[in-house]
Amino acid sequence: MTKQPTLFAMPPKTRVKRMHVVDAGDPSHYDPAFPNRHIAQFGCRRCKFETDWVLMDTISETKRGIPCPRCTFDPSPLFVPLRAEYFDAFVSGDKTTEYRKYGAGWNERTCTRFRGVVLSRGYGKQDRHVGLITDFEISREPCSMDAWKACYGDQVVDVACITIQLDRR
Ligand SMILES: [Zn+2]
Repeated sequence: MTKQPTLFAMPPKTRVKRMHVVDAGDPSHYDPAFPNRHIAQFGCRRCKFETDWVLMDTISETKRGIPCPRCTFDPSPLFVPLRAEYFDAFVSGDKTTEYRKYGAGWNERTCTRFRGVVLSRGYGKQDRHVGLITDFEISREPCSMDAWKACYGDQVVDVACITIQLDRR
Protein backbone atom coordinates (compact mmCIF):
# COMPACT_ATOMS: atom_id res chain seq x y z
CA MET A 1 0.00 0.00 0.00
CA THR A 2 1.43 3.35 -1.00
CA LYS A 3 1.68 6.04 1.52
CA GLN A 4 -0.52 9.02 0.86
CA PRO A 5 1.31 12.32 0.86
CA THR A 6 0.17 14.76 3.49
CA LEU A 7 -1.93 17.26 1.61
CA PHE A 8 -2.58 19.63 4.45
CA ALA A 9 -0.24 20.52 7.22
CA MET A 10 -1.84 20.16 10.61
CA PRO A 11 -2.59 23.53 12.18
CA PRO A 12 -0.09 24.34 14.90
CA LYS A 13 -1.35 23.56 18.36
CA THR A 14 -1.59 26.21 21.01
CA ARG A 15 1.11 25.70 23.57
CA VAL A 16 -0.14 27.37 26.71
CA LYS A 17 2.20 28.18 29.55
CA ARG A 18 0.24 29.55 32.46
CA MET A 19 1.21 32.29 34.83
CA HIS A 20 0.19 31.99 38.45
CA VAL A 21 -0.87 34.47 41.08
CA VAL A 22 1.93 36.47 42.65
CA ASP A 23 -0.31 38.97 44.43
CA ALA A 24 -4.03 39.47 44.99
CA GLY A 25 -5.95 42.54 46.04
CA ASP A 26 -9.37 43.52 47.34
CA PRO A 27 -12.17 43.91 44.82
CA SER A 28 -11.90 47.34 43.28
CA HIS A 29 -14.96 46.89 41.10
CA TYR A 30 -17.43 45.32 43.50
CA ASP A 31 -20.59 44.28 41.72
CA PRO A 32 -23.22 42.04 43.40
CA ALA A 33 -23.64 40.22 40.09
CA PHE A 34 -20.00 39.15 40.29
CA PRO A 35 -19.34 38.48 43.99
CA ASN A 36 -16.07 36.72 43.18
CA ARG A 37 -14.61 39.57 41.18
CA HIS A 38 -11.22 40.62 42.39
CA ILE A 39 -7.89 41.76 41.09
CA ALA A 40 -4.71 39.74 40.86
CA GLN A 41 -1.22 39.96 39.48
CA PHE A 42 0.26 37.00 37.67
CA GLY A 43 3.82 35.91 37.09
CA CYS A 44 5.46 33.31 34.86
CA ARG A 45 7.86 30.95 36.63
CA ARG A 46 9.58 30.19 33.37
CA CYS A 47 10.37 33.63 31.91
CA LYS A 48 9.69 35.85 34.98
CA PHE A 49 7.17 38.02 33.12
CA GLU A 50 4.73 39.72 35.50
CA THR A 51 1.40 41.33 34.71
CA ASP A 52 -0.09 44.49 36.08
CA TRP A 53 -3.37 44.14 38.02
CA VAL A 54 -5.91 42.05 36.13
CA LEU A 55 -9.62 42.09 37.00
CA MET A 56 -10.76 38.50 37.42
CA ASP A 57 -14.34 37.15 37.35
CA THR A 58 -13.95 34.05 39.47
CA ILE A 59 -11.62 32.52 42.03
CA SER A 60 -11.32 29.29 40.01
CA GLU A 61 -10.21 31.24 36.93
CA THR A 62 -7.59 32.92 39.07
CA LYS A 63 -6.34 29.64 40.53
CA ARG A 64 -6.05 28.14 37.06
CA GLY A 65 -3.80 31.00 36.00
CA ILE A 66 -3.70 32.89 32.71
CA PRO A 67 -1.52 32.33 29.64
CA CYS A 68 1.93 33.87 29.61
CA PRO A 69 2.13 36.12 26.53
CA ARG A 70 5.85 35.38 26.16
CA CYS A 71 5.82 31.61 26.57
CA THR A 72 2.45 30.74 25.03
CA PHE A 73 2.41 29.95 21.36
CA ASP A 74 -0.94 31.19 20.05
CA PRO A 75 -1.45 30.21 16.40
CA SER A 76 -4.14 32.83 15.86
CA PRO A 77 -3.57 35.89 17.99
CA LEU A 78 -5.69 38.97 17.47
CA PHE A 79 -3.74 41.31 15.21
CA VAL A 80 -4.07 44.96 16.23
CA PRO A 81 -2.36 47.48 13.95
CA LEU A 82 -1.94 50.86 15.62
CA ARG A 83 -0.86 54.32 14.66
CA ALA A 84 2.62 55.05 15.94
CA GLU A 85 1.49 57.33 18.78
CA TYR A 86 -0.93 54.74 20.18
CA PHE A 87 1.52 51.89 19.78
CA ASP A 88 4.14 53.90 21.66
CA ALA A 89 1.62 54.69 24.40
CA PHE A 90 0.96 50.95 24.88
CA VAL A 91 4.68 50.24 25.03
CA SER A 92 5.28 52.97 27.61
CA GLY A 93 2.34 51.74 29.68
CA ASP A 94 0.33 54.96 29.35
CA LYS A 95 -2.33 53.17 27.34
CA THR A 96 -3.86 49.82 28.33
CA THR A 97 -7.17 49.80 26.47
CA GLU A 98 -7.79 49.82 22.73
CA TYR A 99 -11.09 51.16 21.38
CA ARG A 100 -12.62 49.96 18.13
CA LYS A 101 -16.03 50.21 16.55
CA TYR A 102 -18.01 47.25 17.82
CA GLY A 103 -18.91 44.95 14.92
CA ALA A 104 -17.84 41.94 12.91
CA GLY A 105 -14.12 42.42 13.54
CA TRP A 106 -14.19 43.57 17.15
CA ASN A 107 -16.66 41.85 19.42
CA GLU A 108 -16.94 39.43 22.37
CA ARG A 109 -16.15 36.49 20.08
CA THR A 110 -12.98 37.89 18.50
CA CYS A 111 -11.83 39.53 21.73
CA THR A 112 -12.19 36.66 24.18
CA ARG A 113 -10.43 37.07 27.50
CA PHE A 114 -6.89 35.72 27.56
CA ARG A 115 -6.65 35.44 23.79
CA GLY A 116 -3.19 36.38 22.59
CA VAL A 117 -2.72 39.67 20.75
CA VAL A 118 -0.05 41.10 18.52
CA LEU A 119 0.23 44.87 18.55
CA SER A 120 1.87 46.28 15.47
CA ARG A 121 3.22 49.76 14.82
CA GLY A 122 1.33 50.31 11.57
CA TYR A 123 1.29 47.32 9.26
CA GLY A 124 5.05 46.74 9.25
CA LYS A 125 6.75 43.73 10.77
CA GLN A 126 9.46 45.68 12.54
CA ASP A 127 7.77 46.92 15.67
CA ARG A 128 5.56 44.37 17.33
CA HIS A 129 4.74 43.33 20.84
CA VAL A 130 2.77 40.36 22.10
CA GLY A 131 0.23 40.46 24.88
CA LEU A 132 -3.11 39.10 25.92
CA ILE A 133 -6.62 40.40 26.30
CA THR A 134 -7.51 40.71 29.97
CA ASP A 135 -10.89 42.42 29.72
CA PHE A 136 -13.54 43.28 27.16
CA GLU A 137 -16.61 45.45 27.36
CA ILE A 138 -18.97 47.31 25.09
CA SER A 139 -19.52 50.98 25.89
CA ARG A 140 -20.49 54.26 24.25
CA GLU A 141 -18.44 56.36 26.64
CA PRO A 142 -15.28 56.37 24.51
CA CYS A 143 -17.21 58.30 21.83
CA SER A 144 -16.73 61.44 23.92
CA MET A 145 -12.92 61.14 23.93
CA ASP A 146 -10.99 63.53 21.71
CA ALA A 147 -8.90 60.72 20.25
CA TRP A 148 -12.05 58.84 19.25
CA LYS A 149 -13.61 61.94 17.69
CA ALA A 150 -10.43 62.59 15.73
CA CYS A 151 -10.87 59.19 14.03
CA TYR A 152 -14.63 58.76 13.87
CA GLY A 153 -16.20 62.19 14.24
CA ASP A 154 -19.24 62.89 16.39
CA GLN A 155 -21.24 59.74 15.73
CA VAL A 156 -22.11 57.81 18.88
CA VAL A 157 -21.74 54.07 18.38
CA ASP A 158 -21.06 50.96 20.43
CA VAL A 159 -17.36 50.71 21.10
CA ALA A 160 -15.40 47.54 21.78
CA CYS A 161 -13.12 48.35 24.75
CA ILE A 162 -10.26 45.86 24.73
CA THR A 163 -7.94 45.85 27.74
CA ILE A 164 -4.55 44.43 26.87
CA GLN A 165 -1.75 43.24 29.11
CA LEU A 166 1.31 43.83 26.98
CA ASP A 167 4.73 42.29 27.12
CA ARG A 168 6.58 45.58 26.81
CA ARG A 169 10.00 44.00 26.53
ZN1 LIG B 1 6.54 33.08 30.45
